[in-house]
Amino acid sequence: MVNDGARVRSRSSNRDLRKTLSRSRTNTGIHGKLHAETIVIGGGVIGCAIAYELAARGQDVLLIERGRIAEGASCAAAGMIAADSEHFSSPMMLNLAAMSRRLLHEQSEQLSSLSGMHIGFQQNGFITPIRLKNDLRSDSAVPTPRPRDSEIWWDSITAQQEASWLTKDIYGAYYRPLECDVLPVNLTQAYARSAQALGARIVEGVHHVNLRVDANRVQGVETSIGTMTCQHVIVANGIQGEALMKQAGLQLPILPVKGEIAAVQFPDHSGQLAPDKTIYAEDIYIVPKANGEVWIGATVLPGESDLHVTAAGLQKLLERAVSWVPGIAEAQFVRAWAGVRPSTPDGLPYLGACESISGLYTAFGHHRNGILLSAVTGSLLADFIEGKSSEELNVQGCRPERFNKRGILH
Ligand SMILES: Cc1cc2nc3c(=O)[nH]c(=O)nc-3n(C[C@H](O)[C@H](O)[C@H](O)COP(=O)(O)OP(=O)(O)OC[C@H]3O[C@@H](n4cnc5c(N)ncnc54)[C@H](O)[C@@H]3O)c2cc1C
Repeated sequence: MVNDGARVRSRSSNRDLRKTLSRSRTNTGIHGKLHAETIVIGGGVIGCAIAYELAARGQDVLLIERGRIAEGASCAAAGMIAADSEHFSSPMMLNLAAMSRRLLHEQSEQLSSLSGMHIGFQQNGFITPIRLKNDLRSDSAVPTPRPRDSEIWWDSITAQQEASWLTKDIYGAYYRPLECDVLPVNLTQAYARSAQALGARIVEGVHHVNLRVDANRVQGVETSIGTMTCQHVIVANGIQGEALMKQAGLQLPILPVKGEIAAVQFPDHSGQLAPDKTIYAEDIYIVPKANGEVWIGATVLPGESDLHVTAAGLQKLLERAVSWVPGIAEAQFVRAWAGVRPSTPDGLPYLGACESISGLYTAFGHHRNGILLSAVTGSLLADFIEGKSSEELNVQGCRPERFNKRGILH
């Protein structure tokens, strides 16, 4: 539904809006200003990265979040920056992932100094171990390791020397030294705080948002705390992106894919047993984090969107983890949690300008790679706002309106 019926709000509701904005925990300097050049909807890692990049380019940006910053999928992620390890289906995605990892590396110091937060960035490298009986990307009976440019092959002896905590039941392992990881909630909050330090305004607790579209041009948003006008709206609210776009009559299907994840901690004296690199196996990942925990994930449950952790899910994670890193059996269980990945029918995010509604942009649907792709998404969306086209930016495959009303690619 296109909502342009409430273009002018009463003075009293505008007064309420000013009061709410000036009370807002994360708001700085908004006092009564109801207009922004760009409004970003959604305070996950994607929305916050965009707000940061726009603010860094001197743009006037206001981010609105329904609940609190980093309370959606971004607080459930393992935080892997797996540019070389993920199985991307297109060269475009491979390229975006590599760019994003590089950008994040460059941004990490500035984010920490602007926000005063530690984002937990570490470049420990990832290992993909291969079990004795497994095929090594080969049809022949004698498996042949075929490392790509970004990886090194370790035979079983080297693997034991480099990672003594790994099971001995392996033929060898691929090691990818450039891979890194972050603490995802810290990264999201650091983007938000850095954006504020650079002049962006952020408002949490905005329960309802309606897009205001008139004559195929976005006018602003109608919210539970009042009307806001702007030139550009960027929809970056993850799993809820589809519902928001429907208000503008656009079909951008989102498929929820739940994932469960667990954290354990090794006692101080267990140095030899604890992993110091990420295991990125076919059936599980095990990520030693900068906060001293080891995160084990994740189940993949398409179509599910509740946030419960089941006993069966947890059992599967822990069994698989122990089969790769036996010392995990001795580690202390800390907690488990679940989140919902915002996936799309073709596995690509919706990135860019909507062709049928001027001023409306999308940045959602990052599936299992939103943390990895956050930095490049921020940069791309800022480029779109500055007038570049998806052809120029080489992300035509991610254009928002690529599905027709029946969900078929056109
Ligand atoms: C178990 C698990 C493990 C993962 N591991 C990794 C990993 O290792 N590496 C990686 O790169 N990715 C990982 N991901 C994926 C990653 O978490 C997501 O791709 C990413 O967090 C998506 O970010 P987002 O900002 O689009 O969405 P979200 O983080 O969900 O943020 C959307 C925000 O929008 C807000 N919102 C919703 N509706 C509205 C509205 N109407 N108005 C205002 N605000 C609204 C929500 O409250 C939320 O805060 C993992 C995901 C899961 C579930």
